[in-house]
Amino acid sequence: MAAATGAATGLEVRDLEVRYGGAVALAGIDLRVGPGEVVAVLGPSGSGKSTLLRAVAGLEPPTAGTVTWAGEDLRRVPPHLRRFGLMFQDHALFPHRDVAGNVAFGLRVQGLPSAEVRARTEAGLAAVGLAGFGARSVRELSGGEQQRVALARALAPEPRLLMLDEPLGALDRALREHLVDELRALFARRERAVLLVTHDHEEAFALADRVVVLHAGRVEQDDDASTVWSRPASAFVARFLGYNVTTAFGTRVAVRPDGLVWSAAPGPAGPDTVAVTVADRTFRRDHFRLRVATAAGETLDVAVRDAGSPAAPTPGTPGTLTLVPGAAVALT
Ligand code: ADP
Repeated sequence: MAAATGAATGLEVRDLEVRYGGAVALAGIDLRVGPGEVVAVLGPSGSGKSTLLRAVAGLEPPTAGTVTWAGEDLRRVPPHLRRFGLMFQDHALFPHRDVAGNVAFGLRVQGLPSAEVRARTEAGLAAVGLAGFGARSVRELSGGEQQRVALARALAPEPRLLMLDEPLGALDRALREHLVDELRALFARRERAVLLVTHDHEEAFALADRVVVLHAGRVEQDDDASTVWSRPASAFVARFLGYNVTTAFGTRVAVRPDGLVWSAAPGPAGPDTVAVTVADRTFRRDHFRLRVATAAGETLDVAVRDAGSPAAPTPGTPGTLTLVPGAAVALT
């Protein structure tokens, strides 16, 4: 991982602050993205994700802090000279240009000769699986195809940093899974730095090597993806990832969404079990969710993969929740 070394490579954001009027949208943000690295900034709506992308792109002036690439301060470098590509969430395609016209846009802005513009446009479309689509109107494309055109447009000028705002955002489930594979292959092909933002933790974990969790304009956790998932650093991160945060097991713990087994029988009392009464239940595709009350009066919402009995318990049923080994993380 180039970003972990002391050498100045790739993107480095230091102590970044952005204010809108008096309101602080981002504060004290440190972030690095090395060449070949895919970093996801994950946070709820309003946490500052778009502001961060805009500040890195040069579209939003920071009120404090620095944005550098390979050690060069970009303060006075305008957006179009940063060699960063930005793909917006809503694609923002030009509706009156055809597919090729959209992809070629950034290349024309760079003033490349038209033969090269044509060649690079075709190569870009081929890279996203849209070879031969150049003359189509973007208005007649499906959502997934538009997404690919937007991606080809962002990639065509060969940006050293590719920034993506909710790249899988509006796509349906099947298309998302397909695009995840394609994006990962595309990211892996070159030593390009990739910074994506999303509110969807599945999207972040599916695409990124490293995940930076943003909360109210500050970094809450910055770790490799598997560490964020297995060891959330705070109750906020744990809840955001769908963990149940509870004191029902003695200390304050975060329990993975699939980390509890329900049993209707009163289980043996122990540190890994807690007696509960079912308050409510909802069916999901491959599991059910229970809202349960503990003897201590705490309410827990838990995802339960049924261990045996096909029927979910009805409200009022007493039972036991048992912790799956390794599914709980102690919070400090
Ligand atoms: P996210 O992308 O995570 O939803 P944003 O970066 O859009 O978050 O917003 C972060 C905070 O800054 C929010 O409180 C939002 O209301 C505020 N904000 C964003 N853009 C502007 C703006 N142009 N003017 C004033 N406040 C803004």
